[in-house]
Amino acid sequence: MKLLSVASECAPFVKTGGLADVVGALPGALAPHGVQTRVMLPRYPALAGVAEGASQVMHYDDLFGGPARLLSVRASGIDLLLLEATHLFDRPGSIYLSPQGGDWPDNVRRFGALCRVAADAALGGVAGWVPDVVHAHDWQAGLVPAYLKQSGAPTPPCMITVHNIAFQGLFDAHNIGVLGLSGDFFTPDGLEYFGHLGFLKGGIAFADKVTTVSPTYARELTTPEFGMGLEGLIAARGGDVTGILNGIDTEIWNPAADADLPQRYTTESLAGKAASRAAVQQRFGLDQTADGPLYCVISRLTTQKGLDLLIQALPALVGDGAQLALLGSGDKGMEADFIAAAHRYAGRVGVIIGYDEALSHLLQGGADAILVPSRFEPCGLTQLYGLRYGTVPVVARSGGLADTVIDANPAALAMGCATGVQFSPVTRTALEQAIRRTGDLFRDAAEWQTLVRNGMRQPVGWEQSSLAYLALFGDMLAAKRDGTAA
Ligand code: ADP
Repeated sequence: MKLLSVASECAPFVKTGGLADVVGALPGALAPHGVQTRVMLPRYPALAGVAEGASQVMHYDDLFGGPARLLSVRASGIDLLLLEATHLFDRPGSIYLSPQGGDWPDNVRRFGALCRVAADAALGGVAGWVPDVVHAHDWQAGLVPAYLKQSGAPTPPCMITVHNIAFQGLFDAHNIGVLGLSGDFFTPDGLEYFGHLGFLKGGIAFADKVTTVSPTYARELTTPEFGMGLEGLIAARGGDVTGILNGIDTEIWNPAADADLPQRYTTESLAGKAASRAAVQQRFGLDQTADGPLYCVISRLTTQKGLDLLIQALPALVGDGAQLALLGSGDKGMEADFIAAAHRYAGRVGVIIGYDEALSHLLQGGADAILVPSRFEPCGLTQLYGLRYGTVPVVARSGGLADTVIDANPAALAMGCATGVQFSPVTRTALEQAIRRTGDLFRDAAEWQTLVRNGMRQPVGWEQSSLAYLALFGDMLAAKRDGTAA
């Protein structure tokens, strides 16, 4: 089966969050099942080196204001289709945000172009290669199904995966013409979102199948609390919507072979984790003498992630004898609050503002527990890395966090199956209680070792989920063949 995967990010080339990890890991996870994936993404400046030696497979004299070409190259084991368009993607800084703050003002054209070219490629634009299935990711690829539909030609079936419904790609309605899409699509059951053009809305409306990244988030998305205005449409798509849990790349994230750790370790030889713990304490300026748990956070700093609650809960955390090492960036106010906390609780709270992949590995290796107090979390990857590294997840009971962590309640402890701590509702008080509960577990060395080992043994790779994607691709192909809706 030939698969065209369309996204705005893909690890290890360009990453701002979990989307990139998933887009980068799926080709390798699907390959053993006979799926040959090509990942299409913009040729940002960061990919200039990767594009060297690439061959041109499509060309446009004018793609929304300038020339463009599609390049084909294989790098880091992934077959890439890179959309090169200087006027859209050759600019410094963030792939989404302008240095002046806020989104790039022409994001509608930038990602509209990605969708348009993906649809052209799906319709046979690349000589000698037509995908059997198209897989669009998030709002940046949300218009692919609309472009396919507009072609009027027989098209491959298209799936869209919603990695986070909070990001919908909403733009002024007049852009529908700018993007060359028919006004007929601008209806409440099509591209219109309360008077705006909605990329993700269109994707959910027109794709043959909709998936999201955990079963609980799939259910949550049908409710006003989590659906962000799209709950009605998602509920209406009914059985076409499936939650498939993200996996992680268990080769990249492997404490037994991780070059970013001072000493590797396994479930059988956990002693090596202590070397990483000491390295984290040193890097974050934390006392080596504290005897409570060392928590880490690796995250975008946003209210979605509930980290404002963590700032409020810091007195309780420090009061419990614990330490915190936080790596993150995002909301400027929150960055300032955490920096201030690091001064106030010197030696107990260490903060590094920034994005550092290698340091995130060291933190997973060295911390005792990882805090993920998200208000909503479609899947969440850092708790999965935590499980793999014996770093006990302490998480809000939401979305994929609810699906991947088994709470250390008395019954689960008695059965010996607990892997972490969950709390609900997502409030300061509940977080503080979770921190105290974690401290109590930590002080019971035998109980803690069981939690750590249970987590490390939990399957967190792609084995199950790749089969679930495969089954849906098969359903879509069968439905196309039969001429029925998938
Ligand atoms: P989201 O996609 O909502 O940001 P996820 O938990 O799904 O959250 O994925 C976040 C990914 O980004 C993980 O791979 C995490 O390790 C990584 N990450 C987040 N912040 C940082 C940071 N400051 N430095 C390094 N990696 C980070």
